[in-house]
Amino acid sequence: MNTNKSLRSQWLKLSILIITITYLLFSSLLIYATSVYLKDQEYRSVSRALDDVSTLYANQAFNTITERDIYSSLIDNQQMALYTLSGEEVYRWPARSELYFELDFQQSDNPLINEKSIEGDDYLVASQMIQSDFWHGYVAVIHPLNEYNTIIRMMLFIATIIGFLSITFTSVISYFFSIQMVKPIGRFTNQLKKIENQGFAERLELKTNIVETDYMIESFNNMMDALEESYNQQKQFVEDASHELRTPLQIIQGHLQLINRWGRNNPEVLDESLGISIDELKRINRLVEELLLLTKNEGSEYVQPDLVNINDEIESRLSSLRKVHPDYMFTTDFTKANLMYPINNYHFEQMLIIFLDNAIKFDKENKHITVSTEVDNKGDVLIEISDSGIGIPKDEIDQVFNRFYRVDKSRSRQQGGNGLGLSIAKKVAELYRGQVWISSVEGQSTTVHIKFPKVQK
Ligand code: ATP
Ligand code: MG
Repeated sequence: MNTNKSLRSQWLKLSILIITITYLLFSSLLIYATSVYLKDQEYRSVSRALDDVSTLYANQAFNTITERDIYSSLIDNQQMALYTLSGEEVYRWPARSELYFELDFQQSDNPLINEKSIEGDDYLVASQMIQSDFWHGYVAVIHPLNEYNTIIRMMLFIATIIGFLSITFTSVISYFFSIQMVKPIGRFTNQLKKIENQGFAERLELKTNIVETDYMIESFNNMMDALEESYNQQKQFVEDASHELRTPLQIIQGHLQLINRWGRNNPEVLDESLGISIDELKRINRLVEELLLLTKNEGSEYVQPDLVNINDEIESRLSSLRKVHPDYMFTTDFTKANLMYPINNYHFEQMLIIFLDNAIKFDKENKHITVSTEVDNKGDVLIEISDSGIGIPKDEIDQVFNRFYRVDKSRSRQQGGNGLGLSIAKKVAELYRGQVWISSVEGQSTTVHIKFPKVQK
């Protein structure tokens, strides 16, 4: 594995970079603020001393000023020097050789403070002009900055040590953390490989105890469940469809063999076998058409709806059925409201045919079918198709909407049913956000309920 591009090294680099930048920013800001503050203190101290010394020489005769007076004006290692107006040094206390250096004076009434660096040592030099009865000239205070420098150097040293330690520490922690972090991903990948080889049924089993990865694993497993279910459904569908096609094909094959053997000389066999073969071919045709319909509606493609007069449409369907099935009684119970609904005409007709076909097929004794329409108090449209036929057993009501599901497989098959009608009708209704459900009392009656939501204007 290319470790340069691994998540772990990326993480490591990034965390070290972040901690380094943060630390550098933080410590330089801290040192800078401290140095500004300390420098300010040094400036105050030197100007205070300069004030005191100038007052001393402005108000007292030079030879009456004792070392003690000067000592009490100065602080720590400060030194004072007295100059004539022409810049000639007259007096210096305490006399320390390392502090002898040339001072450049400027004619100024205000005190001046300059920073000087002499042989690696830094000083603040404050000077002021004195113009009084007692002295004409300059007084200066020299203030070594070694304490200030020591503190700053110390801070830099400590910051470097702490910085080094903290970056090392973070790197080590980060390194181990990154190992921990990618561990579940590594295991995850291994299991994925296993799934790749062994197929759908495998699931990720590891529990990482880390919220994110556990959540990822759970989502993955859910996705696999959905995939497996959909795959199985498709598989089932193909199996069922081929099974349904095989039966009529086998029947046709059998009869063609019969014709081949006996049919040439036996017109009875010929007639019967040809009749059966044609029937079976019709069934195959229908089945293929229905299968096409089912897959076509799958994508819930948008169809421009017509504005259908529901009652009129049902009435016209029934009147044509009355002609084909004169032995049946079709009654209606329509709402008085003028029921116009935006639905594709062909779709609506298709649904009616499916439900009425079932009603006729499964009510061969009483032969009484009722269709009613209603608008409920929410404005939804309800259509009910009832028959007084054989009914559906309670525990199978939900299943009749499944593809190829038939309560009595052999009987329904005799009637030419493929078990696809209801699943097609349900799909079509769902295109219009409609619902379809069935209520039934076995041996008595069956009612199909169709509900379309109120039209949003
Ligand atoms: P196809 O509609 O594809 O020709 P089919 O009528 O058997 O075949 P569906 O319309 O999907 O298939 O109906 C599924 C099953 O539900 C039927 O086989 C039947 O057992 C049951 N069923 C549907 N409608 C009724 C009904 N009105 N009365 C009794 N049983 C019904
Ligand atoms: Mg049907």
